[in-house]
Amino acid sequence: MFELPVQGDCDDSNRVTKKVATAAEELMAHSQLLALAAAVTRDGILITDANERVVLMNAAAERLCGYTFEEIVGQKPARYFQGPGTDPATRNKLREFIDHREPISTEIINYHRNGTAYWLQLNITPVKNDAGKVTHFIAVQTDVTDRKNAEQALKSQSEFLEKVSFTMPVQIFVYDLLEKRNIFFNRNKASVFGYSADEISAMGANFLDTLIHPDDVIRYRAHLEGLAQQPEGVVSNIEIRGRHVNGDWITVHCRNTVFTRREDGCVSQVLGTIQDVTELVMSRRRLLDLNTQLEQTNNILADLSIQLSDRAEAAEVQAQELAASRAELYRTNQRLELLASTDGLTGLNNHRTFQEVLHRAYSASIANRHSLSLLIMDVDSFKSYNDRFGHPAGDDVLRRIASMLPLCVRNTDTCARYGGEEFAVILPEASVDDARVIAERIRTTIAGADWKLANVTISIGVAQVAEEVSSPSQLVTAADQALYHAKQSGRNRVAIFGDITSEELQATRVNASIEAAYSECLHEIVLQQESDLMERMGESDNSLVETYDATITAWAGVLELRDRETEGHSQRVTNLTVQLARFVGMNEEEVLFIKWGALLHDIGKLGIPDAILHKPGDLTPEEFATMRKHPVLAYEMLRHIEFIKPAIDIPYSHHERWDGSGYPQGLQGEAIPVAARLFAVVDVWDALRSDRPYRKSWGVEQVLDYLRANSGSHFDPRAVSAFIAMIETESRINAAA
Ligand code: GH3
Ligand code: MG
Ligand code: MG
Repeated sequence: MFELPVQGDCDDSNRVTKKVATAAEELMAHSQLLALAAAVTRDGILITDANERVVLMNAAAERLCGYTFEEIVGQKPARYFQGPGTDPATRNKLREFIDHREPISTEIINYHRNGTAYWLQLNITPVKNDAGKVTHFIAVQTDVTDRKNAEQALKSQSEFLEKVSFTMPVQIFVYDLLEKRNIFFNRNKASVFGYSADEISAMGANFLDTLIHPDDVIRYRAHLEGLAQQPEGVVSNIEIRGRHVNGDWITVHCRNTVFTRREDGCVSQVLGTIQDVTELVMSRRRLLDLNTQLEQTNNILADLSIQLSDRAEAAEVQAQELAASRAELYRTNQRLELLASTDGLTGLNNHRTFQEVLHRAYSASIANRHSLSLLIMDVDSFKSYNDRFGHPAGDDVLRRIASMLPLCVRNTDTCARYGGEEFAVILPEASVDDARVIAERIRTTIAGADWKLANVTISIGVAQVAEEVSSPSQLVTAADQALYHAKQSGRNRVAIFGDITSEELQATRVNASIEAAYSECLHEIVLQQESDLMERMGESDNSLVETYDATITAWAGVLELRDRETEGHSQRVTNLTVQLARFVGMNEEEVLFIKWGALLHDIGKLGIPDAILHKPGDLTPEEFATMRKHPVLAYEMLRHIEFIKPAIDIPYSHHERWDGSGYPQGLQGEAIPVAARLFAVVDVWDALRSDRPYRKSWGVEQVLDYLRANSGSHFDPRAVSAFIAMIETESRINAAA
């Protein structure tokens, strides 16, 4: 250890000695100064001999290592100072230099006595004697632990930053505004533009122009300049397009801020981040597009929903209207059904319903072996009631009788208006005695009622299904005959078909319907007539013809008896047809057969049942079909009678039409016998010129117009022309007379 030298006395007696002494004193003084310096310096000083054994060390060296000079004097210091943290390479280097006796300067980790490591800047200098031999080593130790620690911290910080910035998806850069180049560009895994940091820095001042879209360069420069005006810590954002190394344009988002300023306050560097937002922008655009589409769709939907609600309202209204019209239709149908099945005046079942119920009841009675009875009733002397009090009063009577009937019968019975002033009651499962009781109840109820204008009575015919009454129509006929019998017996009474004797019945039959009797016996009568006539063949032609003529005229009278409505019709049409035949130039023989044909034109109607022929209302299609059979029936009746055969054309073909739409054969034009063609015109003329229950007669001109209008369709045009010419000639003659 160094110690401060003590000041000695000066000996100036001997000059040489003095000189030497002076030199020695000087040296001593210098040594003392050096020792002082060594004592106060902060660096450690350690001196070893040539064998590296400690010979001297100052206080600073003692503090650094924690050992006292006395403890390590004469020892090799390395074993005290070095430890596990001491770099082996440094240690070897040290060894090498010392061995070569060369000076060395190095940094090394030494250990304090207490085990604490510290960094030294170690400078070792060999000391040589005059012979050039190393006698000592002087080591100067400077403690650099603080600096080394600071350096280490900085290094690990940088490494950390480097690592972080490497993994970051953003580009971090520092741009020098003055040098106009990037001075930092982080190496990240995939740099935003695809360039390496070195490539970027190689771009230098061209950096902006190289990477940024030409249209965005000016905007970006302005942004940087603007940034220079910003205070510290403010981050400015900008979105620009940049070119990727692969040539694609990408959109990047930059967040820039002031990094450094010069001393005069001018911004020198900008720190920024760059983020690839291409996907984001595209997504944003797609989102915007989607939004726009969504808005449009919304608008369309809104429109649609308005339309829909409009339609729903309309549909609602329609549905209500539909429901209303359905209900109306239902009501109408019900009314129609009622109308179709009931009688308008009385509200009772009509004739059609009567027939249906009767047929059903009849089938049931047969199937179940039950009895079935029928009442047919007719108001007595009703014609005179009408004549006296008028038809409306007559109608009241009919309505009142209709209202009384259901009160007199059982629930299971069916009351109907049979026609005109005739009523019927169908009595299922009623014996004739049951029926009689009900019939009497009806009769007495009506006869005993308080009729304001005049007494009203009815006659009732009762019939029951039995052996000889074995169909609905036979049941009706039987009840009808019983009714007729009741009338014949004085009216206001009930007659039972089964109670009528066969003589009474026969008389009834003859009396009731000459035409019916005729219809049944006609054939026999005709045959009889024919044989009579054949017997008289020897007589003159004329008388024979006269006989025939008389016979046929008589028949025609019988026919008219049956069909009251057409009274006089046969005679009129016969006269006119004969006139027309002559007018068109037919000879008298032809005219004779035309006359007979005209007289007998409806003879076929003898085969049509009364119920159809005299039906007050419209005919059903079936009834109409039956009605249309009368020409064929006529043909069947007449074709066996030799002398009438030539007259058969009119009865058989007077319903044929010129255009082929007539019946029964559907003949057309000239195929229709001429007699029938002439007659057809006359027949219609007479029908239209006569009053009918359902219409008044037509005027001459009206009928002629009708004939003209149907000439060529219904009628033979020549027949119409001839007929009109004849009528006009006649009227001229009459006018002249
Ligand atoms: P009889 O005792 O023989 O039955 O005599 P009658 O006068 O009742 O006989 P006839 O059958 O000849 O007359 C029936 C009359 O009934 C003729 C017709 O004017 C009348 N008649 C038919 N239907 C109706 C109708 O709906 N209303 C009115 N007021 N009269 C009707
Ligand atoms: Mg009557
Ligand atoms: Mg009558």
